[in-house]
Amino acid sequence: MHKYSVRCPICDEVQDSMSLACSKGHDALLRTSYEASQLIPKDLPGIWKFYDWLPVEGIIREGTGNTVTYKSEAFARELGLSDLYIAYNGYWPEKHASMMTCTFKDLEAYPTMQTLLERKDNRIMVVASAGNTARAFAHVCCITGQPLLLVVPEKSAHRLWTLHEDTSPICLVTVEGDYYNAIELASNVASKEGFVSEGGAKNVARRDGMGTVMLDAVLTMKKLPMHYFQAVGSGTGGISAWEAAIRLIRDGCFGNVLPQLHLAQNLPCAPLISMWSGNIATKGTVDEKCPKDMYDDVLFNRKPPFSIVGGVRDALQATGGRIYGIDNAAAAHAQQLFEELEEIDINPAAAVAVAALMEAVKKGTIGKNDSIVLNITGGGMERLRRDHNLYPIIPDMRVSAHDPEAEFKIAEKVAEKFQR
Ligand SMILES: *Cc1c(COP(=O)(O)O)cnc(C)c1O
Repeated sequence: MHKYSVRCPICDEVQDSMSLACSKGHDALLRTSYEASQLIPKDLPGIWKFYDWLPVEGIIREGTGNTVTYKSEAFARELGLSDLYIAYNGYWPEKHASMMTCTFKDLEAYPTMQTLLERKDNRIMVVASAGNTARAFAHVCCITGQPLLLVVPEKSAHRLWTLHEDTSPICLVTVEGDYYNAIELASNVASKEGFVSEGGAKNVARRDGMGTVMLDAVLTMKKLPMHYFQAVGSGTGGISAWEAAIRLIRDGCFGNVLPQLHLAQNLPCAPLISMWSGNIATKGTVDEKCPKDMYDDVLFNRKPPFSIVGGVRDALQATGGRIYGIDNAAAAHAQQLFEELEEIDINPAAAVAVAALMEAVKKGTIGKNDSIVLNITGGGMERLRRDHNLYPIIPDMRVSAHDPEAEFKIAEKVAEKFQR
């Protein structure tokens, strides 16, 4: 038996480990099943602590960080909670948190690039991103030297910095348009020969990487939490937390009740809320203005993996989950309170989850003594800026989303840059 296999949850057929969809055409997120049935942390750096439950056969040692889970005191006291744990993803030297791109997207990028490495797949990885994912993949690729094509909305380009002076493995294209335009363009380029797409929610390496947040939390808490709070755009982190919890229940050491998912979106750009409430009429017809004026536009996704088997709807149904709509004022208030009490700066997206937790407490949706994990999906960026030298990633080219030639121009640019 191999370390793991990738299967379709509908027909249970084993799939190629890199495939993004069932070979029989079932509309489902493929899932990993691991030979190891128990969570035994490995003495390896960063995310590789969870090597047994990651779909890889080797590791990228350098520059990896893992989630740090700790029991909250000040913020928990403020909310009157007795069993609140913070799953912190980011940079925070005092807590030994060293996710150097400051969000949990690091947890997706490392296993994804490792799977390419071990298959000696030298196609060019294509990543469309509103910023945080791009930064995470850029970080890994600067370490491994793997070529990377980033397609990023122009307005998000300020989020692209790295700790690496030499960014030659990266080709950065900025798009005049929104995240959705960037995704579409990237997917057109990725379908060309010599390119490979990271696959988003369909990529098991991404999901199992994000799932390590739940694994880390459970190692600290010695039990599964009753509640899991996270800010979502695509909801992939929520799916991953659910999948990790299923594995932890099978393990047998941490309880047998799935944590309830509490997923938070930023109003009014919150398509998952209308999908979950069954308002099909609003599906895909989000306010034209979105993601303008969002508290954090990394939380915007027009096409979240909602109704696909194993997607957000299934995750919410299986866990008795809830979705929260958080407006900017609530997020700002939550951010200020959290930063003051926990003494670390957090990503605006993470503040949306903090606000959802505050709302749940206020409305009595959760009990004061319930065990809770609050996923701080990003933090410590201001702190990192103070401690380290950050280099902006300079765009190689700029295209318009309306230019019918854009994908060809990008492919040409890449060929020139990487001499292919
Ligand atoms: C991407 C991101 C999220 C949302 O993640 P999902 O893919 O929707 O689970 C939340 N917070 C931060 C900081 C992010 O970068």
